[in-house]
Amino acid sequence: MTQVESKPTTNDTPFVPIEKIVALCKRRGFVYPNSEIYGGVSGIYDFGPLGVELRNNIRRYWWWSMVQLHDNIVGIEGAIITHPRVWEASGHVENFVDRLVDCKNCKRRFRIDHLPEENVIQNKCPECGGELMEPRTFNLLMETYLGVVEGERMQTYLRGEACQNIYLDFDNVVKSSRVQIPFGICQIGKAFRNEVTPGNFLFRQREFEQWDLQFFVHPSEMLQWFDYWKEKRFEWYMGLINHKDRLHFREHGPDELAHYAKQAFDIEYKTILGWQEWEGIHWRQDWDLSRHSEYSGQDLSYTDQNTKERYIPWIVETSGGVDRTFLNLLLDAYEEEPDPTGKEPRTVLRLHPALAPVKVAVLPLQKNKEELVTTARNIHKKLQRLMVSQYDDVANIGRRYRRQDEIGTPYCVTIDFQTLEDRTVTVRERDHMTQVRINIDELPAYLLERVTWQ
Ligand code: ATP
Repeated sequence: MTQVESKPTTNDTPFVPIEKIVALCKRRGFVYPNSEIYGGVSGIYDFGPLGVELRNNIRRYWWWSMVQLHDNIVGIEGAIITHPRVWEASGHVENFVDRLVDCKNCKRRFRIDHLPEENVIQNKCPECGGELMEPRTFNLLMETYLGVVEGERMQTYLRGEACQNIYLDFDNVVKSSRVQIPFGICQIGKAFRNEVTPGNFLFRQREFEQWDLQFFVHPSEMLQWFDYWKEKRFEWYMGLINHKDRLHFREHGPDELAHYAKQAFDIEYKTILGWQEWEGIHWRQDWDLSRHSEYSGQDLSYTDQNTKERYIPWIVETSGGVDRTFLNLLLDAYEEEPDPTGKEPRTVLRLHPALAPVKVAVLPLQKNKEELVTTARNIHKKLQRLMVSQYDDVANIGRRYRRQDEIGTPYCVTIDFQTLEDRTVTVRERDHMTQVRINIDELPAYLLERVTWQ
């Protein structure tokens, strides 16, 4: 897919406040608070008509570039509920905890690992300077029960991370498809966490969606594949953003590394919240398959068809969030720029055209001229079969362009009186507001080339 054009940022380029994105999302139907009529539930959101289009495009693009383009990667879709032993083997029952402190004075709540070090040492609230209470520990797994008869119900969990299904299905995938190491299994799926400090809109939710690649390798090739996926995933995110200087790697320090991990990196993006994790690249070694072998009693080792060597494969994991991608892309794309004609500022979402929820808007110049309307409706009907197209004849053409800019529609097609004479239309591009005249018959190919990934 072509890269989004770089938008050089300077130290004074302001970050977009989250509140602007929240307001746009609500106003234009990207995201709504869940159960809003009952007062809402903290850390849970619903996606509206434009949100679902953007989300589907983000997911499809990840799937296309990770699964479809690789001969040695396959996909699965596992269930949200699994056997409870899975979460004992994974270590979540014992270790999936957050340590929390409350401020005695202002009552704010913080995760200890998010507090500046001096506040932890001095036991001081970073907001009001008040004294902090004793830390408490919370498990993030969400419990649920299977079965209807009281006393016979099995307690289990909504999955705390989606990737466990990949380890559980590893042996089935090896036996049912012709994959051979090195190979990967991908999945996109919901995960649930009783986050103790949900917030910042979609950034930290209690129900969210993750994408994972678990790439299985021979131990001798671990380093080479780790480096490969680290670079590949960085390039992937780089291709989607305008502010290229707001993406970097953060290497985990020795105190953050799991005991089996030789190294780990977060791909971080800088927003008004500071540098924050977008995706993690993890060295998981043979930890997951060994643990599930031990807890289930099933041998999850792999036999090399050529050498007959039998071993537990090592794993490179790349694990990111669909919702964080959704939020980061909106924060990256949102811009308010002065109107050259001196009226209201123009709000524009500079999303990659292939991800934009609506690809094209078809606009008759006037709605009271039947021939213009009929021609526009016919064009819209044709385009609709190929891409998400919106027909709009309400308000003057300038207002209609603005409405589309605000939701990131890359192209607007205007049908005017010249169209009726020579079958050409005006195609107006979102970012530079340039206009070209195109024959109606060439329109589908012209747009498809620009709004699909190839
Ligand atoms: P954090 O340190 O921010 O809590 P994490 O290290 O626990 O994140 P992982 O368990 O590695 O995150 O999950 C992989 C990805 O899932 C993250 O990079 C992020 O994009 C996404 N993610 C994790 N927790 C949440 C959440 N509560 N809400 C939205 N997305 C999340």
